[in-house]
Amino acid sequence: MHLHTFIRLKYFLLLILIAGATNATAQRRVVVGIVEECPGAEVTTTRRYVDAIALSGNIPLVIPDISDSILLRQALKKADVIMLTGGEDLAPQLYGATPSPLLGTVNDRRDSFEYRAIAEAMRLKKPVVGICRGLQVINAYFGGTLIQDIPTECNTTISHKNTEQSHAHSISINKQSRLFRILGNDTLTVNSTHHQSVKDVAPGFSVSAVSTDGIIEGLESERLKVYGVQFHPERFVVGANSTKEEKMLFLRLFKELSKLK
Ligand code: MN
Repeated sequence: MHLHTFIRLKYFLLLILIAGATNATAQRRVVVGIVEECPGAEVTTTRRYVDAIALSGNIPLVIPDISDSILLRQALKKADVIMLTGGEDLAPQLYGATPSPLLGTVNDRRDSFEYRAIAEAMRLKKPVVGICRGLQVINAYFGGTLIQDIPTECNTTISHKNTEQSHAHSISINKQSRLFRILGNDTLTVNSTHHQSVKDVAPGFSVSAVSTDGIIEGLESERLKVYGVQFHPERFVVGANSTKEEKMLFLRLFKELSKLK
């Protein structure tokens, strides 16, 4: 081997070593595709999701309702994880129930878009994470049912549609769950701004958290990288009424997204 070839080779090996070391210390970032809220004429999401994902070091990307399925699939391909967010009630027809007179506002366009997004995500083998309504959509999509109006259908003194307080009720977290592995707590006080909740758990899913009155506050698939929470972790991460400890704790749920890919 010529001397200059040997020197060049040494240089090359050194570069590989440096690149490897830099990679090992850098945080892994993933693209989190936030499925838009689709109220109609504008493409929207709630900024708190965007901010919480960015604070976790991951990359937020809003996925708009695209009617062309091939293009929607291409858009979802750009994301490593798909996120479904909070919002209106789900149409009970989706899980084979008759609408209760106390059903809240429904958004058929959003329901069908989120179902399409989950279907494409499953085809692409992408993880799906749901927050609040997102958890309910996941449960209905995979074959579960919902409580349409908590106050009249459940025996509870807790107000789950508590928009006034940032700390509404406590939950118990199953120690065998992914949620427990992420948060490291078996009891937590959470916010609660939901009108509906999970009734029959979808086949293949297990309950990761319940509130003291038995309302399901977390679900996760036993086989797929699909899970959700009924509370709003992003409101703790970016909210004005949470402590520094709470911000750090709930941020873990967004940091975890980089480990799902
Ligand atoms: Mn609740």
